[in-house]
Amino acid sequence: MTHLATQFPVFNQQFIAGQWRDGRDGSVLQVTNPFDGSPLAQIVQADRDDLDEAYRAAAQAQVKWAATGPAERAAVMHRAVQLFDEHREAIIDWIIRESGSTRIKAQIEWGAARGITLESASFPARVHGRLLPSNVPGKENRVYREALGVVGVISPWNFPLHLSQRSVAPALALGNAVVIKPASDTPVTGGLLLASIYEAAGLPAGLLSVVVGAGSKIGNAFVEHEVPKFISFTGSTPVGLNIGRLASGGQHLKHVALELGGNSPFVVLADADLEQAVNAAVMGKFLHQGQICMAINRIIVEDALHDAFVERYAERVKALKVGNPHDADTVVGPIINAKQLQGLLEKVSRAKEEGARAVVEGEVQGQLLPPHVFADVTKDMEIAREEIFGPLVGIQRARDEAHALELANDSEFGLSSAVFSGNLERAVRFARQVKAGMTHVNDIPVNDEAHAPFGGEKNSGLGRFNGDWAIEEFTTDHWISVQGSPRRYPF
Ligand code: NAD
Repeated sequence: MTHLATQFPVFNQQFIAGQWRDGRDGSVLQVTNPFDGSPLAQIVQADRDDLDEAYRAAAQAQVKWAATGPAERAAVMHRAVQLFDEHREAIIDWIIRESGSTRIKAQIEWGAARGITLESASFPARVHGRLLPSNVPGKENRVYREALGVVGVISPWNFPLHLSQRSVAPALALGNAVVIKPASDTPVTGGLLLASIYEAAGLPAGLLSVVVGAGSKIGNAFVEHEVPKFISFTGSTPVGLNIGRLASGGQHLKHVALELGGNSPFVVLADADLEQAVNAAVMGKFLHQGQICMAINRIIVEDALHDAFVERYAERVKALKVGNPHDADTVVGPIINAKQLQGLLEKVSRAKEEGARAVVEGEVQGQLLPPHVFADVTKDMEIAREEIFGPLVGIQRARDEAHALELANDSEFGLSSAVFSGNLERAVRFARQVKAGMTHVNDIPVNDEAHAPFGGEKNSGLGRFNGDWAIEEFTTDHWISVQGSPRRYPF
């Protein structure tokens, strides 16, 4: 019987090379609920030998898997989708308990992870090679699109299930094997839960392992190991930059996808619908207490609408319910851990020191940080320059459209963005000048569709996920030329 059938939802072991077992490191990772500190799982952590075993088993299993027909790989994905549906409530419950997600966010995450699984079920039949003409008489050029081999996936704690699955599902569907290193705050939803789903869906043993261990202990080895041909990393920019260096500077060069931090501008032009822009700015900032790479980080409002926007936004934000994420009407739940909370409190103090005007604030209770909104923010303040990753936001005043664009682009990041205007073509013209991988007109910057390209520019990363773009990322080209008649050589 599979893990899903017997033990769901208890996860106290690693899943390595098809076995549920303890890691060999000996240290125990205590996984707790960020809202009330209650224990969720105790996992004996993995060491480098465990990692090596996972990679070797993956390499072995991958060869046979890549040779299976598309229908067989698609069938595993379809069974996984069915399991997402059958276990919907249990999965959502785990997301709430382990990552402090509100019910609204957990439902969105479940939907996104299910969506990419379904999309990936179509990949085995969509991937295709090409025939190219040749300048050499008698030659045919064939380009085969092949699996990369073994893929290493490193994911963060904020959307753990989806951010692992958006790499795992395409990679497996396209004939690769995968080893996941989930974040230490979320080893269950970032890995072990997925492993149990794939095990129950009939994925052959060894093709997916989950190695739970500290990034500081097994992180470098995870990237530098000779087996993985591709490292798919989602997380912060400093860690991602280091992973890019390791993947290109070690003994074993490999492909890398880096989905890193963001600092999304949310621009409101003077002809925007105020109420709709305010509603969007509330959702786009406070979903998952702002702990989303695409969350609004800077609100930029054109002068004529600025004061009315600040007043209405503050009114709406003050009414948001902060509390237990299990309650259906809670909008702002707990911050993931004490260290993140401390960092956010320092950002609040610094915003005040630097002259930002608090128009909404509140007191911390446990891990709950109520929304903070600052007006009179300028582009040089820390709250504008850095990724916030919490329920704080600053509002900047733009003199006109050109100034709004200048402010929007004044960032090292370029992940997502949004612009509001009553004139759609004006908004599209503006959007096309924003230096980002994603810009949403009259909507929030937080958008992810399983068939649309997801990714960033500048220090927000390299590569694109979803749809055709994932097919590109998780396969590689192999040019095979076939000389049908004897070729004449010059010597
Ligand atoms: P993080 O960079 O601290 O950690 C991400 C992952 O990397 C974790 O699994 C962690 O254990 C691992 N890690 C840490 N050090 C490592 C090392 N030396 N070698 C290998 N792995 C290591 O990020 P976080 O705090 O978990 O997540 C928040 C960050 O992720 C934010 O910056 C956010 O913007 C970003 N993020 C980006 C996207 C995106 O799609 N662009 C999505 C979600 C989150």
